[in-house]
Amino acid sequence: MRHLLVLNAGSSSLKFALFAEERDRLRELLRGQIEGLPRRPRLEVDRTVSRPDGDDGAPPRRQRAAEHSWSSDDPQAPRDVHAALDVVMAWLQQQVRPLAVRAVGHRVVHGGAAYAAPILVDEPELAQLQRLVPLAPLHEPHNLEGVRAARERFPGVPQIACFDTAFHRGHAFPEETFALPREFYDAGVRRYGFHGLSYEYVADRLAQLSPRAGRGRVVVAHLGSGASACAIRNGRSVASTMGFTALDGLVMGTRPGQIDPGVLLWMMSDRGMDAAAISELLYTRSGLMGLSGISNDMRDLRASPEPSAHEAIEVFVARLVRELGALTAVLEGLDALAFTAGIGENDALLRSQACARLGWLGVELDAVANAAHGRGSDGLISTPGSRVEVRVIPTDEERMIARHVQQVLAQSPACDAERAEPA
Ligand code: ADP
Repeated sequence: MRHLLVLNAGSSSLKFALFAEERDRLRELLRGQIEGLPRRPRLEVDRTVSRPDGDDGAPPRRQRAAEHSWSSDDPQAPRDVHAALDVVMAWLQQQVRPLAVRAVGHRVVHGGAAYAAPILVDEPELAQLQRLVPLAPLHEPHNLEGVRAARERFPGVPQIACFDTAFHRGHAFPEETFALPREFYDAGVRRYGFHGLSYEYVADRLAQLSPRAGRGRVVVAHLGSGASACAIRNGRSVASTMGFTALDGLVMGTRPGQIDPGVLLWMMSDRGMDAAAISELLYTRSGLMGLSGISNDMRDLRASPEPSAHEAIEVFVARLVRELGALTAVLEGLDALAFTAGIGENDALLRSQACARLGWLGVELDAVANAAHGRGSDGLISTPGSRVEVRVIPTDEERMIARHVQQVLAQSPACDAERAEPA
């Protein structure tokens, strides 16, 4: 049995998933995270309950397998991604015997203009990727630190970087550029788009569930703490609401989405705010949090009687509807709409609020199916008569990364032979 480890290293967490390669399928064994780094680390692991019909389709069931919190003064507590990976590996080695990690896949948020596909990362590649840090300062340094930690921990084991921007490479020039002097485009100031691994997974799954829709004009709404939407034609991304950074487009938990750049100029000239202050405002104090003054979590807003919570959701829906219309215009029509990520998968009311305003497009929601999050494992929530097929498709970025890892290894025969016990 050979294993693929998937890592997603962020500013305060290390998420992981372990897959077993079984003949022609990938079986998810465990997934979890250490969050709360560096001060209050907490480990959570779920065991994946496999089903006899294979798990490469409908969402797998998971059961909590372990939880552990460290106190703030515990000398054993992991404080950075390197120590967190040590803890994760010690735990995995206890649980999975023998553990044979054949390769490690990493989620890397930004691949810039150059990377349109996953890559094997060695030192020169790491140096290249380091140059992208200014494009995603909140995520990229942590993602790359995760790669470094895994290189140390697994010497000789292939490390594969999978980029959130890669799925969007290949957009036509009008979708990729801002109307600025050309020198900015040439310097890399472009609309990159993000959440690409999620879109790729959902597009693949949609094509399995509905081959006709999979070949058609599709919009996927990835609505989590970060939120964006993507126009997809014949399985390929053609436009995204996210641009140069992950700030553009939809309203998010703490980010505003689309904003008139004149507002930022006013903040600088009238309020004397500098880049750091504006960045902090846009990344951490805006969106649902800023509007409501209550929470960045949709569940809290749904539960709150405060008018500001209600208004924040209204703004979220209004922006979503506007962007869905814009992406439909890019596609010149719509065959299928898919909702995914925390809000998209779980908030039936949000889906019905948005779809109620898309009737002009031929969207007709089945209220019962929507309340049940889909009629069955196919996630269909539109009526049989709806001109647009609407589905809830749970995303699985980790599985998408594991698939990419297999593809990269298959194209690199030298790596294919390698397998290793962790150091
Ligand atoms: P990310 O991976 O970007 O951190 P997720 O896709 O996990 O985010 O989405 C997280 C968000 O999903 C939460 O902030 C919360 O607002 C929302 N969410 C999760 N469950 C529900 C639910 N049952 N109803 C409404 N919103 C939910």
